[in-house]
Amino acid sequence: MRQHQRKAVGAARNRPSYRSMTSLQGMENVGGRKFSHVKLSRPFEQGRHGTVARVSFFVLVLLFTAVAGFFPTSVEAKTSVEAKTVLAVPILEYHDVGHIPHDRFSMNPGQFKEEVAFLQHNDFHSVTLDELYAAFYTHGSLPHRPVVITLDDGYQSTYTTAYPVLRRYGFRATVFMVSGFANRRNFMTVRELQEIQRSGVIRVESHTVTHPSLSLLPDKKAIYQLLESKCQLSRDVYGPVEDLCYPNGNYNVRIIHDVRKTGYRMAFTTRQGYATPMDGPYQLKRIAVYQGDSLQHIRQLLAPSFRS
Ligand SMILES: [Zn+2]
Repeated sequence: MRQHQRKAVGAARNRPSYRSMTSLQGMENVGGRKFSHVKLSRPFEQGRHGTVARVSFFVLVLLFTAVAGFFPTSVEAKTSVEAKTVLAVPILEYHDVGHIPHDRFSMNPGQFKEEVAFLQHNDFHSVTLDELYAAFYTHGSLPHRPVVITLDDGYQSTYTTAYPVLRRYGFRATVFMVSGFANRRNFMTVRELQEIQRSGVIRVESHTVTHPSLSLLPDKKAIYQLLESKCQLSRDVYGPVEDLCYPNGNYNVRIIHDVRKTGYRMAFTTRQGYATPMDGPYQLKRIAVYQGDSLQHIRQLLAPSFRS
């Protein structure tokens, strides 16, 4: 919801790229190897000591080759960890796109259109939450420059503004709907939810029943919020509801346990940054976009993607 406090996005704005972090680590390793080569060259000195040293050196080389041959899996494991390190996807977080002046969570429809056009122009490809889950936690792959678009709360502008813009530019998105707000003023009706779901352009997922800060609720009430919204929305849109967005970005270890127990596949936070599989499926980061953010600022937020 608009009125809730959110953390500054500074962390996301000056984030180093995952690729450059990996390269730096590699350079340190190269430096280490060079240093050990210098030490090994010393046995090739003149005289009897030199001969003994030369024999010892070849024995060492033979031993090293044998040992390396016995442990190929450790090298493979390292490569696999490095590959996972660079798997990072920006998940954009929007709210209302109906424009209420001076409300940073309610952007001008023109700004939303400009940003989607920017993504298309810069060769970004939208990824659904099914595809994200497959890439992060099973064996799925991602397109070049992947991006996930999410809209929180289920404002009517999701239907009137975001839906036609996304369809026009060939992008897909997810709306995290507060199930108890359906049919209310300024929020989508059940018919509109059904239409966007059926279109395949925007998929409907859960944002609880009434948008409470879950960690402040007793366990039974938190579980009610999680289960009831899942059931209600899946009945409304005739489809599975598998993912959750924490209202107000609020959660703790107990809530993560409840989310898992009530059958959710992934849960999204308001922690800022690129999402990576290492965050775990219930603490995925996103990148908030606010009213008045310039395209230059969007480019900065997405800087890691431009390096790939
Ligand atoms: Zn919300």
